[in-house]
Amino acid sequence: MGRKRIFHGFVVADGKISNTGDYDSIMDSQEIINLQGMTVLPGFVDGHTHLLNMGMNMVHINLSEIDSFDEASYYLTKRLESGDTYKGWLIGTDFDETKWKKVKRPSKNDLDGISTTTPIALIRICTHLAVCNSKALELLGEGENIDPETGIIKEEQLWHLDEVIGVNREDRKEGIKRAVERAQQLGVTCAHEIVDREGWEAYRELDREGALKLRVRCYIRYNELGDLEPIVESPYLSLKGVKVFVDGSLGGHTAALEEDYEDDPGNRGMLLLSQDELEEIIEVAEERGFQVMAHAIGDRALTVTLDAFETAATRTRELRHRIEHAEVLSDVNIRRIRDLNIILSVQPNFAYQWSQPRGMNERRLGPERLKMCNPYWNAQRSLIKMAFGSDTMPLGPLFGVFSAVNHPLLEQRISTYNALQCYITNSAYAGMDEEHLGQLSNGMAADFVVLSENPLESDDIGEIEVLMTVIGGDVVYDNRPSD
Ligand SMILES: [Zn+2]
Repeated sequence: MGRKRIFHGFVVADGKISNTGDYDSIMDSQEIINLQGMTVLPGFVDGHTHLLNMGMNMVHINLSEIDSFDEASYYLTKRLESGDTYKGWLIGTDFDETKWKKVKRPSKNDLDGISTTTPIALIRICTHLAVCNSKALELLGEGENIDPETGIIKEEQLWHLDEVIGVNREDRKEGIKRAVERAQQLGVTCAHEIVDREGWEAYRELDREGALKLRVRCYIRYNELGDLEPIVESPYLSLKGVKVFVDGSLGGHTAALEEDYEDDPGNRGMLLLSQDELEEIIEVAEERGFQVMAHAIGDRALTVTLDAFETAATRTRELRHRIEHAEVLSDVNIRRIRDLNIILSVQPNFAYQWSQPRGMNERRLGPERLKMCNPYWNAQRSLIKMAFGSDTMPLGPLFGVFSAVNHPLLEQRISTYNALQCYITNSAYAGMDEEHLGQLSNGMAADFVVLSENPLESDDIGEIEVLMTVIGGDVVYDNRPSD
């Protein structure tokens, strides 16, 4: 998709694409699949995922659709009564109190109302914050980011939760399998996955067993790096980069802003790393040949991140350092990202879900700063390399494309073609995969999706279905209508 070209067919051999548009070779093939006018695109490359996390959460209680704590309480109580706990824990995921009728974050006391003997944790959709009942707090022990009064735990403490619950390698591998199946159904053929050490080992084991049916490029959290080096394990799995958090999230009021939160005067969020610390990380990463993936959401975090890259990075172009989310993004910082050659890795589904009028972003930032929130057109216009991903909130590239085309800020909408490019070619580039992924041309990997409708001609991208997903020539998902 570097250039827009349309073929009526191609040959798949040895996991690769050949003979694009060559009618005779196609008709000579061993097996011919007639797609009857359906649309084929290169597979989607999700530039930012937590598939393992998502797969693990698929067995918990998903609270993304509820609209009050009472409703959450109803589902949690029902699950508790059914005895179907997870290793003795009751866990709710993906709650978003900003969408509730009464916007109030639940507390320890609320959860103690459900049980004081079964540990309960509710993980917020941003995964930067969770609320625990007193039993869960007792098991977690004390910690810097644990508030014994409200039951709220933040940031690093959340990563510690799995350990306390007792999640093991096999559990993780099962979680990955569940998530991979879902990714295939949604047309994802490659994912840039953030892992901890245990997660990386689980992926590795699965790949060595030949059971990983998705291309996964891993980015390991810097504090879990140990003595690891970048490695290509197989055409499916590699370890590319290190992930660092410069700040938190807008939802959790922890993204580092230049000015106070509109709905929390006196609070400007928190920097999780100083510029010096980030520079040191960049140096270590470059020495070992790792790409740096820096999570920075607030404008203050972005400025610090760019300052650090500007001072410390010497191999940006070659290693393709990247900034994730970059939600509160000024024109000045857009220019700096361009001039420093950094990849902008963003999630259009965030803009669609949280930048609606009177939505969470407006409440957090106020109307003026909302205008600089997720400015895709400004980035596109500045010729930044912009990659799209989902952050698995939720997973689904077509929803992402739909979101970018229907950005709540009209002036920040981009075209369907550009949005597809961001979700396919640009993401492949961000993962250094552009030589074999992201295009349907001769010699490229046979990673593609069959869609019910051509997005470039569709009135409603949100209605398009993925009918088939092929990775390396293997049909991993087939839901074509039988005639
Ligand atoms: Zn993330």
